[in-house]
Order: sequence, then structure tokens, then C-alpha cells
Amino acid sequence: MTFIDLRSDTVTRPNEAMRRAMATAEVGDDVLGEDPTIRQLEEEAAEAVGYEASLFVPSGTMGNEIALHLHGRPGGEVLCESRSHVVLLEMGGMSALSGLMPHVIATESGLLDAADVERAIAPNVSFRSRSAVLVVENTHNMAGGRVSDRARLEALLGVARAHGLAAHLDGARIFNAAQALATDVADLARGFDSLMFCLSKGLGAPVGSMLCGSREFVQEARRVRKLFGGGMRQVGVLGAAGLVALREGPAGLADDHARARWLAEELACVPGIVLDPATVETNILIFGIGRDFVGGALPAAGLTAEFIARLRGAGVLASPVSADRARLVTHRDVAQADVELAARRIAAAAGPSA
Ligand SMILES: *Cc1c(COP(=O)(O)O)cnc(C)c1O
Repeated sequence: MTFIDLRSDTVTRPNEAMRRAMATAEVGDDVLGEDPTIRQLEEEAAEAVGYEASLFVPSGTMGNEIALHLHGRPGGEVLCESRSHVVLLEMGGMSALSGLMPHVIATESGLLDAADVERAIAPNVSFRSRSAVLVVENTHNMAGGRVSDRARLEALLGVARAHGLAAHLDGARIFNAAQALATDVADLARGFDSLMFCLSKGLGAPVGSMLCGSREFVQEARRVRKLFGGGMRQVGVLGAAGLVALREGPAGLADDHARARWLAEELACVPGIVLDPATVETNILIFGIGRDFVGGALPAAGLTAEFIARLRGAGVLASPVSADRARLVTHRDVAQADVELAARRIAAAAGPSA
């Protein structure tokens, strides 16, 4: 049986065009600023998102952490949504690497609200830690790929500016957000002090992310990248795949989204899966697993493990989110036929008789 891998959009493998580009890439020592392929990528990436400059980094995590390191000082607070990547999935990096403290704002939908952020900002008095940075995640991964539109971002940026906070956009999937809103990435990226986006997610590159900002910001970011151990030498071999991803990746996202929505409509009808298809705006589905799915015998804490094990047995790979929630992600390596087969396999795995 071949598995249909819906654990993440990071599981894509480099396609033929990428492998060819990697094999023939012109390279140099990038720590010395001499890799022509990386220079080209950094120029094109900045242009694509409407920023002055950009820096190739080995991971989105490093990109976010470099930005936080530059925007805050030890003891300062980073305001972010409670399920943000920077707080759940970066190994406490903001504290470990930069002495910063997360101040999380819990929301139902994952979408930050300007009023909630304003309430969370510490007053500027001598006995409160300083609110230093606002992080906005768009799309919001752990909230199921939810999208913040320009009006929402505008309000958030207004609050950040009014209170002197730096604003960082964790745009790991900003191209997905732009696709969902039928707008330009540059339109969504405008106004932030920095933006990180991933080449290695839906755009399909094997490795790498871009950290974008002003020329001065990127110059400083280059120093911090070296500090964090991310200075790389003949890295144009990766940059070449990144260029293909940047140029050709965005065109495939509409299909990923259509497939996720199609799958959501199907799964909403499977007993025990708790999902409102209207909340599936991009390529990520996060849903509740009810006792019906596995026959009722398990305590809630065991639902996700049982669900994922059953799906694996049926040939579908999913990833856990919490005790009773799981995630499926569509990407360029799953076609509509794969998604249809996955839906049949998941439905067959549901219920006590499975
Ligand atoms: C994937 C992701 C990142 C970066 O992840 P890496 O695996 O370190 O490249 C950052 N933010 C969000 C929201 C992500 O989904």
C-alpha cells in the first residue's frame, strides 16, 4: 500500500526542475557574500514581497528567531497568539536565545484582534516589563491555516505603531494567505518591520526560508544568522531550488486549497470527525476527533493517538495537534485522486467496526 502523506506541506520532495537547477547552480562562499545564486534569490524574494532586502536562512524558525533577537531586548515581551509557532514550536527560542518572554493572547479562531492586543500591551511605567514585539502569524498554522486579511492587519499594525512595538510577520505560508484572499503577497506583507516566509512549505523547496526587511535590518540579520550558526558556504545548491519554488510554487497553491476544501466537505460527513468546512481557508485542516470515530472505548486523551494509528493502518498519514485534535495538510505532491482516495480510506477507518 502506498501512503498518502498529509502530515505537512514540508514533506514535498524537490521536483525535476529543482534537481536540475541544483545540479547546475553557480555557487560561491555565501558567508563572504559571494554566492551568485543566493544573491539572485535574495533579490527576487525581496522583490516578490515588496521589501528592500532579504536573507536566505536554513529554517523558518531561525528566521523568526533572528527577527525577535533584533526587535527586542532581554526582559521584553513578545505579544503573540497563544498557538503561535514562535511560542509552541521554536523550542523556547525567544527566551533561550534572546532573553525575551512570550505574552500570549488566546483567541478562539487564531485570528488576533487589535483590541485584544491593545489590552495586552503593558503600560509604559517603570515597574512593568516592556511590550517589545508583536508577532502576527499568517496563515495561522495551529489554528487550521486561518487567514488574516488586510483590514485586520492594518488594525494590528496601527496598535503596534501607536505603542512603539516592532511588528514581525510570521508568514511561513504568506503565499497561501495571498492566494486565499486573491491578493498580492506584497499587499499582505506591507507595514511590518520584518517578514519571514518559507520556501520549504507549500512552495515545494527542500530547504530554506527568507527573512525580509529594510536593508539595515537585513544587514544586522546577517550577523545574527552567523551568531546562531546559520552562516552557510556554497549554499547556492539550495538557493537554486528555492528560486524554482519562489517562481513556480505560488501557482500551485490554488489547487492545494481546493483539495483541502474538498477533503473538508467529505470529512465533515464522517462520523466522529468534528469539522466546519467553512473554517478551511487554505491547505490545512484541523479537526476534533469524537469518540464515534474510534468506537467510544477510549478516554479523550487517547483519541488522537488511536485516530492517527488507524489512519496509518488505512494508508493515510496525519499529524497530532492535541489530545483530541489532528491535522491534515494538502501540498503539491498529493493530487486530487490521492485526496479522494484518502477520504475513502479515512471514512473506512471510522467507527467501532474498523
Ligand atoms: C513551518 C513554520 C515555521 C518555520 O518552520 P521551520 O520548520 O523551522 O522551517 C514558522 N512559522 C510557522 C507558522 C510555520 O508553520
